[in-house]
Amino acid sequence: MSSNKISFEKSLVANVIATGKCVGCGACVVVCPFNCLEYAEEAPRLISECKICGICAQICPRYEWSQTHVENFVFGRERKPEEEFGIYRRLAIAQVRDDKILKVCQDGGVATALLLFALENGLIDSAIVAGMNKEKPFRPFPKLATTSEEILECAGTKYFYSPNLLALFEVVKQKKANVAFVGTPCQIRAIRKMQTAGLKRYTAPLKILIGLMCSECFTYEGLMEKYIHEKLGIELDKIKKMNIKGKMLVTTDSGVATIPLTEIKQYARKSCCSCEDFSSELADISIGGLGLSSWTFTIIRTEKADELFSNAEKTDFIKTRNANEETFALSLLQKLSKKKRQTTAQ
Ligand SMILES: Cc1cc2nc3c(=O)[nH]c(=O)nc-3n(C[C@H](O)[C@H](O)[C@H](O)COP(=O)(O)OP(=O)(O)OC[C@H]3O[C@@H](n4cnc5c(N)ncnc54)[C@H](O)[C@@H]3O)c2cc1C
Ligand code: SF4
Ligand code: SF4
Ligand code: SF4
Repeated sequence: MSSNKISFEKSLVANVIATGKCVGCGACVVVCPFNCLEYAEEAPRLISECKICGICAQICPRYEWSQTHVENFVFGRERKPEEEFGIYRRLAIAQVRDDKILKVCQDGGVATALLLFALENGLIDSAIVAGMNKEKPFRPFPKLATTSEEILECAGTKYFYSPNLLALFEVVKQKKANVAFVGTPCQIRAIRKMQTAGLKRYTAPLKILIGLMCSECFTYEGLMEKYIHEKLGIELDKIKKMNIKGKMLVTTDSGVATIPLTEIKQYARKSCCSCEDFSSELADISIGGLGLSSWTFTIIRTEKADELFSNAEKTDFIKTRNANEETFALSLLQKLSKKKRQTTAQ
């Protein structure tokens, strides 16, 4: 990693933003010690003179990335070639037992169950999740949830970018000390880079990183407004759930509209096309649907995630099945992880 003091323009503008690689994670906006940056239209923007400290360049997940360096930091070793979806301790297919959670979650409700379990047992005081915009259905925003009700309200997937790292401002403002983070692989990468750079102000409160599996995010204007609303004629406020299971499934009271992924590929965010991490390989615990119905495929990667998950399992918060029974999900996980790496290598 470069230790040079380099300006925002020379590092991130020239190599990340102007080249279309910026994922809009917001990490640079959070860490700038001089508050030179603001977040607008899913990207950082300079609003006052850059003091050329080089910190934003040190933490950007799309600038001078070293997988080896971060893997050694998180796991104490590098991934072996046969560890196709990253380093892990164990796998499980899991489902929350509480029907109230199962009704509102995306798959098996593991993210929400672990957050509620951790909050109710005093392991965390808050969780960074994705809230839902009231005027624009399914448009997410970064949310620091501090109660069980708020965590529950934020369950379910929004297939649009939520720069959850920006909620770290709120963590510091509210002086939260034990926070869980839920986010996409690119956001987990940014946090790991912030940790390796020793930026404790924002990373010290983060106790557990729950990474989502992620093929891509879509633009709200493209998928929701142009395609689902204008082309298919579906009122956005009537949508109850959106899910991807080989196809995009949009559920309303009138039924389920099925959309082939080839139809909506054009609305994927451009920066997602050069993303090499499908399964949040650097998270403490990774979760995804992988074609399963009402169950979450769970990759338990670190010791603290194992402890949290095992305690939730022992106290009957969640039930589990052997992941090796789900050969389709397992091979899909391997295939999608490999595909993402290959796309980037081209
Ligand atoms: C953009 C995106 C793409 C995905 N692509 C895939 C995929 O290709 N294959 C796959 O198997 N799984 C994918 N997932 C993960 C999947 O949709 C579920 O989130 C996962 O299976 C967990 O389900 P659950 O029932 O355990 O989660 P829940 O208990 O429903 O909790 C979901 C958590 O994710 C948070 N969240 C929702 N939307 C976002 C967002 N946009 N950004 C950050 N956090 C969010 C919620 O606030 C909540 O805390 C994707 C998720 C997202 C957000
Ligand atoms: S972090 Fe440093 S280099 Fe980056 S914008 Fe702020 S002052 Fe400039
Ligand atoms: S840190 Fe995130 S938002 Fe900032 S330039 Fe890098 S990818 Fe973009
Ligand atoms: S595909 Fe990659 S870059 Fe795009 S949102 Fe998912 S993790 Fe981030």
